[in-house]
Amino acid sequence: MDDQSKALHSSFKFDPSTNSVAVPIYQTSSYAFNSSEHAANLFSLSEFGNIYTRLMNPTTDVFEKRMTDIEGGTGALSCSSGMSAIFLAVTTLASAGDHIICSASLYGGTETLFRYTLKKFGIEVTFLKDFTADNINQAIKFNTKLVFAEAIGNPQGDVIDFEAISECVHDQGLAFILDNTFAPIFFKPFKHGVDIVVYSCTKWIGGHGTSIGGLIIDSGQFNWGQGRYNDFTEADESYHGLVYWDALGNVPGMGNVAYIIKARVEGMRNMGMCPSPFNSFQLIQGLETLPLRIDKHAENALKLAKYLEGHEKISWVNFTGLKKHSSHEMARKYFSPDHFGSVFGFGVKGGIESAKIFIDSVEMAYHLANVGDARTLVIHPASTTHQQMTEENLLEIGIKPDFVRVSVGIEAIEDIITDFDQALAKV
Ligand SMILES: *Cc1c(COP(=O)(O)O)cnc(C)c1O
Repeated sequence: MDDQSKALHSSFKFDPSTNSVAVPIYQTSSYAFNSSEHAANLFSLSEFGNIYTRLMNPTTDVFEKRMTDIEGGTGALSCSSGMSAIFLAVTTLASAGDHIICSASLYGGTETLFRYTLKKFGIEVTFLKDFTADNINQAIKFNTKLVFAEAIGNPQGDVIDFEAISECVHDQGLAFILDNTFAPIFFKPFKHGVDIVVYSCTKWIGGHGTSIGGLIIDSGQFNWGQGRYNDFTEADESYHGLVYWDALGNVPGMGNVAYIIKARVEGMRNMGMCPSPFNSFQLIQGLETLPLRIDKHAENALKLAKYLEGHEKISWVNFTGLKKHSSHEMARKYFSPDHFGSVFGFGVKGGIESAKIFIDSVEMAYHLANVGDARTLVIHPASTTHQQMTEENLLEIGIKPDFVRVSVGIEAIEDIITDFDQALAKV
């Protein structure tokens, strides 16, 4: 099936007890056991089934299975937010005394989590500004546990060479985790050597600005038994001596689910950042139209970028979809045709004051701190999200004083352009 068909049909036909076609919201904390034997089997993982909503929920399960099908993996785990998904994805592999390598071009929350919070947990992080296979190779140490990057860097729109990087990472027996929040549907990370994908579902997947959510998906392609990952080959004391790689590296009918089950029974069970069934329902609603919306976002973003490029009051436009962007060719190599995401930066002539006038003058677009909404959103990072930084530091991460960031929505492009046009006329 095509992605749009999977988004509507995968993993759920109708509810067998009520014939409900919409996925029901199973708003329950717990599930009755059929017998003592059934209960014991569920707890020992010799049978899979519902126990408690912190561990699994039937509404959430449909969302996880549908995303797994679309992504081409072996299993998924929903979390309460993108941040908790990233934290859980990383700590399923790394613990105190370990080291991880990441790109310096990261979402602000992830950068803070890695730089400050992981440090408190004893995990050392190397940030690489130039995220190439050579630089990664040099940064790998005996205790390195994973390499982490994002599909499209924000705000620069940079795209890395996924295949070259995964090859070098795999040569060292390491796993590659990718945050694919900015490139759902139009980039398929598992086809290019990524082992684990994480999403903030709050953005394009939910798509309507109603719910926070996160997801981890396992490709099922990584061999956790090859040396670096003792956690997978030694008994887990917290789970009556379970050896993840032996028990779950090749489950009939499921494949290699060692990582994603470890994340569930060790990470989720013990830390508890589970989603509410209601939010899973909302994310399923979003997912049903995601492939359609993604095409419209991409088309509008290209048209808006080209319009702004030709505008007399605009000093620069930095969009991956424009030929002059340094990552344009890399994006064309890996992404679906004409898809470059829908977030980019541009400069309003006259610097910070002009940028603020523009932001205050848009009428249809919203001024808020989010991306991936169906509505067009704008923000001026230098005076909001990044106001604590000095001008020098801002320039280092590519945020000029006149920088306006837009997340292009799915309204009619004529209306977006009309709105930007009248706002620029006031500058
Ligand atoms: C928003 C975002 C996150 C964090 O997700 P939340 O759902 O807000 O916790 C992580 N990574 C990227 C790329 C994001 O855009």
